[in-house]
Amino acid sequence: MSLPRFGTIVSVGELIAFSWQLSIIDTSEWDTPSMALKIIDTCINCDACPAECPNDAIAMGSMIYEIDHARCTECVGHYDEPQCVTVCPVECIVKDPAHEESQEQLQAKFERLQAA
Ligand code: SF4
Ligand code: SF4
Repeated sequence: MSLPRFGTIVSVGELIAFSWQLSIIDTSEWDTPSMALKIIDTCINCDACPAECPNDAIAMGSMIYEIDHARCTECVGHYDEPQCVTVCPVECIVKDPAHEESQEQLQAKFERLQAA
């Protein structure tokens, strides 16, 4: 009799501990933050993305196409999703953690580019 009861108490304790752990997890970290994008070296230079960029942020670099982070707004202000990512056939355009920006900063960048 005592073993099943003990087992039940342990299980409830574990459940409480698990619930507590859930309550202290910062779920905001699960959301991908906004940031400029970059092209990684698996780019095949297919030439599909530059014409899609509304900010003229993509140009040929020394080996592959590159994104000017100062001009990339993740397409904020123009489209709901990054246009370069939608056309890239090899999924080589990724977020650039070195240039993390808030949605407000991306919007401000868009407005600066429009005014220039
Ligand atoms: S995410 Fe948009 S603004 Fe940034 S490089 Fe791609 S197409 Fe251009
Ligand atoms: S669409 Fe992708 S593979 Fe093609 S040039 Fe752009 S980054 Fe490179």
